[in-house]
Amino acid sequence: MISSAHGFGTQWENYPIVNLVALADPNVEIVTDSSSDWVYDWVMPFALLKKSFKRAADQYTQSLFQISELTRIGYQLAQAHRKPEMHYWKRFGLEQGDVESGVLCPFCGSLAMNRLRVIWDCPHCGGRDRRAHVMSLLDHFVFVKPTLTNQECREFLHVEKEYTARTLMTNARILDWYGSKSGRVYVLKK
Ligand SMILES: [Zn+2]
Repeated sequence: MISSAHGFGTQWENYPIVNLVALADPNVEIVTDSSSDWVYDWVMPFALLKKSFKRAADQYTQSLFQISELTRIGYQLAQAHRKPEMHYWKRFGLEQGDVESGVLCPFCGSLAMNRLRVIWDCPHCGGRDRRAHVMSLLDHFVFVKPTLTNQECREFLHVEKEYTARTLMTNARILDWYGSKSGRVYVLKK
């Protein structure tokens, strides 16, 4: 944060900086070992963010910025915002085939669910889910590569019909696509 903030023309080391990370998804849980207990001071459920703001505000009472200065920095930060690039295949040196294909069961975590007419069915636990493929599509874009064709989709989700793959990809609401029908390439929505 400090090094990337240098571009804003402010001497950040002169100011106290409080790190806070709020988890918007209530299902996310952070687990650390005892050597990383400090994480719990920074990372919290969204509901606790207000309380932490207040605690930080009570701790630092001296006014360091003019409102106009804060507004300017706020605009600059908003403008500099970048979506994270989650290209984990690069970071972990993953190669084609390292990520097992198939739709992961959201109930028991097993591969691979079977596609019935309009729903996914788990052969291991009997769980059924309509949108289980959405997580698998995300896995493809995060762990395999940034594009997906109809054929790759059929192989990755274990579905046979071109029509089924197309419906799953277009209805997932997380993808954009370009190219004509047969050569269409799908990418993650910006
Ligand atoms: Zn299952």
